Amino acid sequence: MIIDLRSDTVTKPSPGMLDAMMRANVGDDVYKEDETINALESKVADMFGKSHAMFFPTGTMANQTALKLHTNPGDQVICDKYAHIYNYEGGGASFNSGISCNLLDGSRGMFTAQQVIEAINPPEFYHSPLTTLVEIENTTNKGGGACWDFQEVLKVKQVCKDHNLGFHLDGARLWNALVEKKETTQQYGDAFDTISVCLSKGLGCPIGSVLVGDEQIMKKALRIRKILGGGMRQGGFLAAAGLYALDNNIERLLEDHKKARELGDALLKSSFVKKVEPVETNIVIFELNEKYSENQFIELFSAKNIKLIGMGSNKLRLVTHLDYFDNQHDRVLEIINNL
Ligand SMILES: *Cc1c(COP(=O)(O)O)cnc(C)c1O
Repeated sequence: MIIDLRSDTVTKPSPGMLDAMMRANVGDDVYKEDETINALESKVADMFGKSHAMFFPTGTMANQTALKLHTNPGDQVICDKYAHIYNYEGGGASFNSGISCNLLDGSRGMFTAQQVIEAINPPEFYHSPLTTLVEIENTTNKGGGACWDFQEVLKVKQVCKDHNLGFHLDGARLWNALVEKKETTQQYGDAFDTISVCLSKGLGCPIGSVLVGDEQIMKKALRIRKILGGGMRQGGFLAAAGLYALDNNIERLLEDHKKARELGDALLKSSFVKKVEPVETNIVIFELNEKYSENQFIELFSAKNIKLIGMGSNKLRLVTHLDYFDNQHDRVLEIINNL
């Protein structure tokens, strides 16, 4: 039995999800004739109270499309130094949109409205890149699954409004934040111009993300997705997985969070850990003390058939998900307690 805690992307479609996929009615989505993709897009748009939603093969493509929608070449986006769009999208911000990132020194991937104010280049000062967009992530990936304080989100939104800046949310794991903080999609839809959400992380789909926004901003999205190579044909088989996941796999994320907290508590009591980042959702980041090096620890766990990933600087990451079962959890806790 391999226990894979590297990421919540390692899940495989459940029998129920596969069944929904096999039964999907499909068509050519480039002609907008895939009724299952159309149903998924209108469902997600409704959830967020936006007029438009678009299905994407990946979260990266959804975010990159959003960056392109909000900016012109030469512009600058304000985001955290941990941001996925800066660290993990292959340099796409510069490659696809010709923009630079103004990186804020936040805490666990989150920053304040005041920091945003200070980072905006004055529009009349033509020597600096023109600031046109603010991007945040919820939950934060590199920040260890931390959740934004919604009041601070609203303050950042106000700053964007005052300075005529776009506001994009990378909500790859927004579902985790919503169930944990008892917040709603509607609230987030009201706060942001565009939001990308992922179906293939905690929700357990094999593929898929959705970008939502109102008509004005989403007008060009179809063309940009096409340019990026994301115009799909009978993608409804994949969208069916998304519809199934939205109906069945959101509330259960709380179980992943509970397991993550239990792992965090066990690690805190162990003899080999120096520090555990606060566990808010399904990600546990911990730092080793001098007992083991990062590589030694990964090998030690791998010998026990447990996979996890190293993050450098003696930090390691565990991510709980819907294919991490109770019996696997008991085994991992037992190993941590006895190491
Ligand atoms: C996973 C993730 C994405 C999208 O990644 P893909 O692998 O392209 O689907 C975007 N943002 C964050 C914060 C993520 O964790």
